[in-house]
Amino acid sequence: MGWDALSLVDAADDRPPIERRAVVRGDFLELQARTVIERVPPAAGIAQRWAVSPYRGCAHACRGCGARAGHRKLGLDEGRDFDTRIVVRPNVAERLRAELARWDGQELAVGLGGDCYQAAEETYRLMPGVIAALAAAGTPFTVYTKGAAVLRDAAPLARAGARVAVSIAFVDERIRRAVEPGAPPAQARLELVSALVEAGVDCRVVMAPVLPLLSDAADQLSATVRRIASAGARRVEPVVLRLPAGTRAWYLRWLAQAHPQLVERYEELYDRAGLPSPGYEGRITGQIEQLCRVYGMECGAPPAERREPRAAQLALV
Ligand code: SF4
Repeated sequence: MGWDALSLVDAADDRPPIERRAVVRGDFLELQARTVIERVPPAAGIAQRWAVSPYRGCAHACRGCGARAGHRKLGLDEGRDFDTRIVVRPNVAERLRAELARWDGQELAVGLGGDCYQAAEETYRLMPGVIAALAAAGTPFTVYTKGAAVLRDAAPLARAGARVAVSIAFVDERIRRAVEPGAPPAQARLELVSALVEAGVDCRVVMAPVLPLLSDAADQLSATVRRIASAGARRVEPVVLRLPAGTRAWYLRWLAQAHPQLVERYEELYDRAGLPSPGYEGRITGQIEQLCRVYGMECGAPPAERREPRAAQLALV
């Protein structure tokens, strides 16, 4: 069963569709999924076209998280439910192994539907199985995370040749507390980058999301890139905030309370699809590229990888 099919069941039952299918354990909703490799919306702004997520929803509770619409499809809301009701796929590794047996070797993103190293991972420990499945299939992958728990898996990630992208969009703690209230502080993530580099993991920093008019001033960008360079990162990937359906209303509701004077300017800056104006995005990306040159780092996402699937490699021997 794909995640999108959940809304089709038992119309007479007024519980959210997910609760009719899942085993509910506190804030966790355990759901046995039939398929786990999902298409990445082009507007996500990342290089990979396909993704696998052990969790849907995220306790890091980032206001501008682009994955919020997924909860609405499950009959939950994209605001507080996304932050507090985490959908867990206990069989993710098993299903992933089955799907990878027919995979064409394209790179997968891991953890877009919810951070794969959020607190739920301490309970469920799904990532070792996911990494093992991807490594066995020889599939390239990038793990997207803000969670220090990724360090637990540094050795298997390094052996698998995985990429890890740690999100650090700004280093101002006041902003972090307002827009990423459940995520670790920037300093903890900078230390995580240093530790991953030290452990031999191919690690970059995703400056995502740069928040228009809140974290995009020249001195803010400069301070952030400088500290990322000091942490030992060799590449920075800038991503300006996107406001797709499901994210837009939640973010703008907060903005109207916290910074009402900015709402109109956001309405002007974003199109109906939730993308920032190309002129604005190009200016911010250009500033970060220039800062990366100053600090000796590469800028931008590396191209998505493609490796010959392991089964095909064996067939050639
Ligand atoms: S850590 Fe990532 S997945 Fe989690 S809420 Fe923030 S942006 Fe979304």
